This record gives sequence, structure tokens and C-alpha cells, in this order.
Amino acid sequence: MLTFQELATITNGTVLQFVQAHSVINLLTDSRKLSQPTGTLFFAVTGKFNDGHKYLPALYELGVRQFIVEKELDEKGRNYSQLYPEANLLLVKDSLNALQELAAWHRSKFTIPIVGITGSNGKTIVKEWLAQLLSPDEMVVKSPRSYNSQLGVPLSVWQLNSNHTLGIFEAGISLPGEMEKLQHIIQPTIGIFTNIGTAHDEGFTSREQKVQEKLKLFTNVDVLIYCTDHKLLDHEIQAQTIHTFTWSRHHSADVTINATTAAGHKTIVVFTYKGEKQRLAIPFTDEASVENALHCLATLLYRQVPFAEIQDRLDRLHPVAMRLEMKEAINGCYLIDDTYNNDLAGLAIALQFLGNQPQRGKRTIILSDLLESGLPEEALYGQVAALIKNRGVEKVIGIGSTISHHKSKFSETAIFYSSTADFLAQFKADDFRNELILVKGARVFEFERIVHAFQQKVHGTVLEVNLDALVHNLNYYRSKLAPDTKLMVMVKAFAYGSGSFEVANLLQFHRVDYLAVAYADEGVMLRENGITLPVMVMNPSPDSFAKLRQYNLEPEIYSLELLEQYLKDLPADNSRHRIHLKLDTGMHRLGFTSEDFDALFPLLQQYPQVQVVSTFTHLAGADEALHNDFSQMQISNFRAMAAEVEARLNYKVIKHVLNSAGIVRFPEHQLDMVRLGIGLYGVEATGSEQQALKSVSVLKTTVSQVKTIVKGETVGYSRKGIADSDKTIATIAIGYADGYDRRFGNGGGQVIINGKRCPIIGNVCMDMCMVDVTGLSVKPGDEAIIFGPKLTLVDMAARIGTIPYELLTNVSSRVKRIFFSE
Ligand SMILES: *Cc1c(COP(=O)(O)O)cnc(C)c1O
Repeated sequence: MLTFQELATITNGTVLQFVQAHSVINLLTDSRKLSQPTGTLFFAVTGKFNDGHKYLPALYELGVRQFIVEKELDEKGRNYSQLYPEANLLLVKDSLNALQELAAWHRSKFTIPIVGITGSNGKTIVKEWLAQLLSPDEMVVKSPRSYNSQLGVPLSVWQLNSNHTLGIFEAGISLPGEMEKLQHIIQPTIGIFTNIGTAHDEGFTSREQKVQEKLKLFTNVDVLIYCTDHKLLDHEIQAQTIHTFTWSRHHSADVTINATTAAGHKTIVVFTYKGEKQRLAIPFTDEASVENALHCLATLLYRQVPFAEIQDRLDRLHPVAMRLEMKEAINGCYLIDDTYNNDLAGLAIALQFLGNQPQRGKRTIILSDLLESGLPEEALYGQVAALIKNRGVEKVIGIGSTISHHKSKFSETAIFYSSTADFLAQFKADDFRNELILVKGARVFEFERIVHAFQQKVHGTVLEVNLDALVHNLNYYRSKLAPDTKLMVMVKAFAYGSGSFEVANLLQFHRVDYLAVAYADEGVMLRENGITLPVMVMNPSPDSFAKLRQYNLEPEIYSLELLEQYLKDLPADNSRHRIHLKLDTGMHRLGFTSEDFDALFPLLQQYPQVQVVSTFTHLAGADEALHNDFSQMQISNFRAMAAEVEARLNYKVIKHVLNSAGIVRFPEHQLDMVRLGIGLYGVEATGSEQQALKSVSVLKTTVSQVKTIVKGETVGYSRKGIADSDKTIATIAIGYADGYDRRFGNGGGQVIINGKRCPIIGNVCMDMCMVDVTGLSVKPGDEAIIFGPKLTLVDMAARIGTIPYELLTNVSSRVKRIFFSE
């Protein structure tokens, strides 16, 4: 067992306090990912947006007893050793570095071959495929999902245990200096460099520098496998003295590809290896998959996997789901489809994704046997059961003979089936209602059949919401805030159309300070879905006051009349109540003016149980530079009025003015809090920093029918679409009832089908509209993008003279939302 003193030596740290010996099983850097306090070592990492030291009290409370810290005192100057008398504490200069050193030390204990993969694209897929292709011969350990960063790599390598015979880890970098650290941790013996593209170019002075930096992963490898057709890559590798194993379509190489030809759903590869011509089929036709598969093929040949077996293994490859998706399913259920692989680390991540979603009644998992963990079965299923229990999963369905054999480790209500077919034979849709179901199975179990059984036939239009992009945008705005500035996020109008509690839930996970909604019912819905953050309600109607109190929602009070009604409605007990005062500084919508103050404050003073938590105003023209003087005037009026509010109340309140555009335009006026809205959803309202944000939503539908019409014929209602030549017309399944504005009709709008922009022809109907696809190859079932990264909300809104806010919030509730995370 690793002693605490050894840990200090490995990490070059100082023991602040040693109480008793514990084993180190789990390394934790994100307090939210705690699954098992015993055996957990927490690294308090200080990052750009967060300080891990803030979570020591909560973790200690939960039973964590081993901490690596960068300071001895908390923010109030109290000694950690006094605060946490039962904890082992180790002081280091840099916790992330300590984590990396510990992982590197762990890695050094193993002499098995380790494959290290880097490159701009395909790392994760090559890793997953290789693991699958090599698993008949090896006990493989690999990075979970795309854990390839400074944090992800050490956590990946930490999984190594003595049963493994081969490791496969991916490494990704965005800045110079990072790869050396990853090399030190992975210490690969076999390298794979997939390719080089534009990703993360901004971090490097030149493409050459990026290649050289990435090559540092391979400093000590026995062999580097790559494709010499990538000129720059080849050039830089040739300049070094690395032993290589190459493949090429154009030159002679260790594996010379003579031809690749698409044949149905497959690609036939003819190649020469050791002077002999060979032929194999790859079960994909797209270029990226073929390249990834050829990297794998080269690796198998290098590893001397018998040629006779390769075809059989290739046949079983499937596309890798790069993202965890939540989809609507039968009976109000949602499904998290993670059917590609099933290992312990991947299970932990998927369970966390499940845990992060709103409590939709019940959480359910359908889980197959776990293959190739390298752990003894007893220990493995013990850990699986503990993970599932700790994540609050209520309903467990196990499929497979091994998991069934260990049923006693799971809760008594768990149900087991010997095979997928057995489950499907007994499947009754009525057994599942309002549940969030994680479907996680190893490849051979073909759980896609289960997913299929759960999926309702949905109308073709969906709004995909990229939760990672949302977090990116959140962090972007956070990076603009002073450390003490609080963040309120506007989730009114169904979170700008993106799905209210799903978004609110993510915001709660990422620890924003406040949420705001327009109406009481929106707040109630958040509470009923497990949102505990403070929530301000901007348009509270008097008949909702009781509800506000019941659900602990905080009203915005904007007029004397509303205040009087609110106070009259208060219960005659000594409960306390929190309100927000809206001030009108020029928007002339809602809010008190200074003339109201003489009546307002004496009234408030009669109700000491009512606390004014915050006061705020709203800028009328923060998005346009044209109105800068007006905005400045509003801000300075607000500052003066807010000072008077505090003076008259005789206590401090939270003061806030800035919306998304304001955060960008007036960073000096953040005051105590800002109110982020549209920016979170990917639209930078001033237009000056749009490129810093990521597109969050994609609205898409499908083609229902394709027909040809001849010159002079007309399309749709009122015969508005007139064919000026022979045309091909596609009917798509979206209309104004889905929120697709009628102004997009008759060429006003465009959609993207098979990568091409196509104009709308004729009027938009209620549930459909028609698109001119003349000259393109389009068939029923093809996807049509209404808006997304390549057809931006800003552009689409401009085309019909409206604003992105309206397009987003118009997407009707009958359009299914799909939430995903990469
Ligand atoms: C909607 C709203 C915001 C957010 O505005 P964005 O322009 O979407 O950032 C801020 N404050 C108030 C009062 C709002 O109603």
C-alpha cells in the first residue's frame, strides 16, 4: 500500500497532518464526482473558474479523509489541520502537478506495452476501435471517453492494474509545454499519430511547432505508427530518429495501400504488406472512418495479429458514440443511450451524467455484463453495485449471465435477464413511466435493440441542445467577471426555448448564484425538478403569491400597488420573505422611480420580516453602441438610486444592471451581480465577440417527400411558389406551428440539406414547408437543418427582420428536445 509519506515524496509535498493510514483507490479533483469517500484522495486544484479548496468542508463532511492542498489556511485564515482533525493533509505547490506525478509514478510500476495516441482528429475512435480489435488477445485498459487532457490523462493512467496486458491512452494538447507532461505520465512504448489539422492552431506559433510539440509524446517509444501521406507530419518525423511503422496510399510504406473502393456499406482495401498483396473490407465508407480503420489495421499488423483473424474483427466495428445523449422515449421517459462500450470508468461517467439530470421521477439503469475490466468479478460487481447505489439509481435491470450471477450485490428490487433477447421477449412498455433510463451495454449485447424498443416514433423535428457548448459560453462570460461578482442566469421562456429544467440543472451543477424566470409557474416547475438555487420571478401575479412562498421563490416587486398586494397577502407568522426591487431608469417597462421612494420605504419598514435581497434595473439598449450614452445615463442613475435604497433600508443589498450585452460592453459596471441571458444560448448580442461563443442549438427536421415539377407549375397555398424552370422540390416536416416563421416563405428563408443551402419555395404551411432542391441529390428521410452553426440564428433572424431571441423562443413545445454532451 502507498503510504502517506511515500505520497509526499512522490508529489514533492509536505505532510501537514497525518492521522491514520488509508488506502488510495480513487483520485478526485471534482468534488461533484465523489462516488465513495473511503479510499478517496482529493486534490484541491485551483483553476481559472474554480478553487478546489472551497469544497474541502463538504468533502470532509461526507467522509473524505485524504487531501492534497496548496495552502495551509482557509479563506478566513483558519488552519486546515484544526478544521479537519481526522484528515491526512499534504501540502504541495501545485495540486494538478501532484496528481500528474502520482499517475506517472503509478505508470512506472508496469512494464506492459502502452499505446499513446495523439493527433488532431480520430484519437478517441482509434483508441476505442483498437481496444476492441485487440481485446481477444489482451486485457486492455484505456482512457475513458475522451479523457486526454492534463487532468484526464492522469485519471486514465491511474486505472492500470496488474491484470492488464496492454494500455491505450490518448493525449490532447492545446498549448506548448503540455505534451511533455503527458509523455511523462503515459510513457508510451507504441505511438500512433493520427493526423494534423487546424484544431488548437491558436495556441501555437505555427503548424510545425504544433507537430513538434505533439511529437514529444513519442520521445521514448519503440515505434511510431503513422500515415506518411500527411506531408508535414512525415517531414517532421523524418527529421527525428524515431523508429517508425508507416502506411501510405501514395508511396511505398510498411503497409502500402494500393486501392480503396467503396462497395455498398463497405470499403474494400487492397494493400501490400511484406511483399504480399492482401485484401480486407472495412465496414465504413466515410473518409474519416476509413483513415481511422487504416491506423488500426497498421497497428494490428505491427502487433502481428494473425492475418486470418483481422477481417472477422474488423467486421464487428461500429461507429463510436462520441457524445452522451438524452432522448425522449415512450411514456414520458428519457433515455441516455450509451450502448457502445461498458467498462467501469465509462460507467462512472455515464452514471454521473445520469445523476446530473433533473429528477424525472425515477432513475433507471439497464446494464450488461462488464467485459475486460482486469478486475476479479467479485470486486468488479461490488464496485458497480456501489457506484449505482451512490448515484441514487432506483431501478436496476441487469442483462447477462455474469451480472445475473452477482445479483446479490445489487438491491433486492433489481431485475436480471440472461440475455438481451430474454429482456426484449418480456419487455412491456407499461413497466416504464416518467423515468430517466441509462442504457449501457457492451457491444456484443446489442443494446441498440433495447434503445429501439424504447424510442417512440417522433415527429421529425428536433431541437438539439449542446450542453457542452452551453457550459463553454457560461465560462466565457464568467471569465469576464470579477471574482466576487455573482451570476444570475435568465432561464425564462423555457430557457430561451432550450428546455428549462435541463438547462437550470446544468447551471446548478456549475454553481451559478441565481436563476430568474418570468412567471411563478416556471419557478414551480424548476423546484419540482430538483432545482434548489435561489430563483427570482420577474412577473409575479398577486394570485401566485402563495405559490411563491410555498416553493421558496423570490418575487420581483416593481410597483407600489404590487408591493401593497404582496404585503397584504403575507401570513401572520414570523416567517421571513425575500424580494427584489426593480428600478426604472429609462426602459419604462416595469420598476419604481425615485418619486415612489417616499411611499415605498416607510411601507417596507412596517414589515421587518420582508428582506430586500437585491435591487436592479434593465438597460434598454446595451446591445447597440448607438445607445452607449443612454446606457451610461441609466447606469449612473441606477447607482444613485441603489445607494439611496441601501441608505433608506439601512442594510446592503445585491445591486445589478448588466444583461449579456452589458457584460461585454460595460465590464466596469458589474456591481454585485450580472444577469446573463441570450449569451448563454450562443448569441453575443453586441455582435463584437460572437466568435468566442459556441452555437448551442440546432433545429432540424427531415425530408418527407421529393417531387419534380415543370416550369410554370406552382407550389403550396395561394400558389405563391411559381416554378420559373423545371424544379425538384422537397417537402420538409416543419411549419409555423413548430415555430418556423411564415416570413421565411417564398425565398425568405433557407435550410441546409446535405450540406447545401436551399431556399424555401412557396408559403410556409402549418406543419410543413417546401424547399427548392433542384440539382441536388435529396431523398425522403434526409436531414434538413433549420438553424445551427452553419446557418446562424443571427443571420436567420436578420433575414426576416427579427432578433435571435424571437427565433429561439418560438420553437414550439411540440418540437422534441435532445440534450447532449460530448
Ligand atoms: C431577459 C432579461 C435579461 C437577460 O437579457 P439578455 O439580453 O438575454 O442577456 C436580463 N435582465 C432582465 C430583467 C431580463 O428580463
